[in-house]
Amino acid sequence: MMDDHPTWLEIDQSAVFDNCTRVLGDAGKPLMAVLKGDAYGHGAAVCGEAALAAGAAWLGVARGCEALSLRQAGIRAPLLVLGAVAPGEVDELVANEVTLTLHSPESLALYAGRSRALGRAAKVHLKLDTGLGRLGIFPDQAVDFARQAAQDGLAVDGVFSHLACAEEPHNPLNALQIGRFRQALEALQSASLRPRWAHLANSAGVYALPEAHFDMLRAGNLCLGLRISLDDPLPPGFRPAMTWKARLAACRRLPPGWGVGYGSTYITQGEEWIGAIPVGYGDGLRRVPGNRVLIGGQSFPTVGRLSLDSLAVRLPRAYPVGEEVVIIGRQGEQEIGVHDLAGLYGVTQSDLCTHIHARVPRLVVNALTA
Ligand SMILES: *Cc1c(COP(=O)(O)O)cnc(C)c1O
Repeated sequence: MMDDHPTWLEIDQSAVFDNCTRVLGDAGKPLMAVLKGDAYGHGAAVCGEAALAAGAAWLGVARGCEALSLRQAGIRAPLLVLGAVAPGEVDELVANEVTLTLHSPESLALYAGRSRALGRAAKVHLKLDTGLGRLGIFPDQAVDFARQAAQDGLAVDGVFSHLACAEEPHNPLNALQIGRFRQALEALQSASLRPRWAHLANSAGVYALPEAHFDMLRAGNLCLGLRISLDDPLPPGFRPAMTWKARLAACRRLPPGWGVGYGSTYITQGEEWIGAIPVGYGDGLRRVPGNRVLIGGQSFPTVGRLSLDSLAVRLPRAYPVGEEVVIIGRQGEQEIGVHDLAGLYGVTQSDLCTHIHARVPRLVVNALTA
């Protein structure tokens, strides 16, 4: 039986496996499963194991500490830190065979210095800014930079960039960024500096931008069964990996004229059954109108203000304490998707999921058998 908690997430490891299998099969290219932000709150190690079992070639994270925690979880696969690292982190990352992102003259000096000190070449992927305006060197500097990196003793194993508008396939910036990336690759090729891995597309590019595939796809959302954009259903064969559940903490019959929640913004009309559910904004919900939960296969709106640890629903009848409540996921015919809540809050799905607090335990369901 599952551990018992007032509220918990169920992470379907087989769903991550199946989603990654689908990306690999449909695109026919190697996959880097992007697991930053603890796999958007799903749990990086559990999702990483599933992605690798499905055949992912690489895992990607944003920070050095995220890479090290995957290593500590026993994951030995190629790992790329997509973001910047602090100087003091470099030695341990290199010792753990984590590939670093080479994105600036400063990062070149840092990695080169530490490689010399360690007597060991840091492995790097060169990051180009083709139009996102974040990290990276300009595409026309790629050859000089790659040459310098090699001379300074770095092992340049890849080159990549990131699309700014991939969720809008017809946005002209996509073609512009793909063109700049391709030109840089051709220049690297001509200079005999073309590294093994060239990668550009994220989840949004998997189906919509095949010309952005190059040697590998970097996908986060799709691997986790999150939509490309809030309004477009998942492509066939994908399913969400996350379900958020809770148990009804109390179901009480309140008299007419009784207030519910801080500010007493909801007052019972007659006698009403009010359920207390141990989930609040301290868990990652937001205090806006329109929150709903599923109980007994039906969808109920919350009443009154959400508090840090709990919310209230008006129920048509008494439900037993301990009754299963779904915050995100499916129950009977009803479903509340991550995209529904993200839409209600005006945030992205990854924003919503990464903000589900660590106090909500992540329990693995449909675990892959070793
Ligand atoms: C987050 C991220 C990805 C993955 O994006 P998804 O839209 O979740 O597929 C890929 N590449 C980089 C550089 C990222 O930061």
